[in-house]
Amino acid sequence: MSKIATELTRVSSSPEKQSGLLPTPICRGSTAIYPNLEAMRASSEDALKKNGPRYGRFGTPTTQAFDDALTELEGGFATVSVCSGLAASCVAIGAFVAQGDHILVSESVYGPVRRFCDSLTRFGIHVEYFDPMLGEELARKVLHNTKLVYLESPGSTTFEVQDVPAVVSVCRPRGIVTVIDNTWATPYFYNPLRMGVDVVVHSATKYICGHADSILGAIICDSEKIYSAIRVESIRLGQCVSAEDASLNLRGLRTLAVRLERHQQSALQLMDWLQEQSAVGQVLHPSRVDHPGHSVWRRDFRGGTGVFGLVLQEWVSELAADRFVESLSLFSIGHSWGGFESLIVPADLEHRARPSWLRPGVLLRLQIGLEDVADLQADLKRGFAELAGEM
Ligand SMILES: *Cc1c(COP(=O)(O)O)cnc(C)c1O
Repeated sequence: MSKIATELTRVSSSPEKQSGLLPTPICRGSTAIYPNLEAMRASSEDALKKNGPRYGRFGTPTTQAFDDALTELEGGFATVSVCSGLAASCVAIGAFVAQGDHILVSESVYGPVRRFCDSLTRFGIHVEYFDPMLGEELARKVLHNTKLVYLESPGSTTFEVQDVPAVVSVCRPRGIVTVIDNTWATPYFYNPLRMGVDVVVHSATKYICGHADSILGAIICDSEKIYSAIRVESIRLGQCVSAEDASLNLRGLRTLAVRLERHQQSALQLMDWLQEQSAVGQVLHPSRVDHPGHSVWRRDFRGGTGVFGLVLQEWVSELAADRFVESLSLFSIGHSWGGFESLIVPADLEHRARPSWLRPGVLLRLQIGLEDVADLQADLKRGFAELAGEM
């Protein structure tokens, strides 16, 4: 499986078509011309085909190269890229639901996706949230009008790993579409389409881009039927991607393996150390043996990345936790993650009830960047010393 590191350096690269140059050129453009009227008329007959309507919004050679790369890396039929990770989730859900339908959404989803799902009630769609640790028992929640199950594994904030093959075994025979957010693991560590999921969504903004300088989403579809529905929805909503963003994200893919190995290695080292600190109650990452879904993670994933949660001890007040966060110098305060820089933010469970396995205490989210790990540890150590001094 280490073969993917090699694949990342070559996927979707066609130097022979571009004077031998390795990087895919940035092709900007809105208007694209037709050789004659016959070609123009024929193109509008099928928007899904490669020779379909010629216009920048439908894609350019640069965006196509990015789409093809993700299709190959995830093992899908085709990819639709959109303006953001959030848009990828909204388009993937919107493509399959209509008034009167019921959808099941994991409680551990990224907050803005939950807000989108809540807004679907305006259109008469019934949304129900479920415990991410339900595997085959999800069958009990399925209704006659359940059209879609939305997963995210590991989940945002709490990082539970979902038993995807078990969920698929419930959904496939019933014709229920499954969508999963694979932003955290990326195709480098996890390929849910190979486990029978219908649609994978990514916020490429995070690890795929890797440099905190682009916002981009991708929807990878496992079949022509799924792709058609998603492509039509994306076109209907006017979704498109700039050549610059596609190019930055193609560049990001080239170094994804080496970056993720480093993020993983540093995170594992720091998490072992963090668990020993007196102010720390719980470390939330699938690699921890006591974490929900750890065994499923070991079974289904090839590794883990550098974003995790930290529950402080109950005796650390919110104010003290805020001061701890602000006392750090190498961990910047900032949302998003997947870039080169370490980040820390107080985390929010959104509208979700606190799961029973989660210890009480202030919850933080850390992203371990590409800095020297000893420097990061020294920074945290200083912060904990100050925290202890204040108590
Ligand atoms: C950030 C994030 C998104 C949204 O991505 P954007 O590109 O910022 O819109 C979706 N899912 C997960 C898990 C994320 O962390």
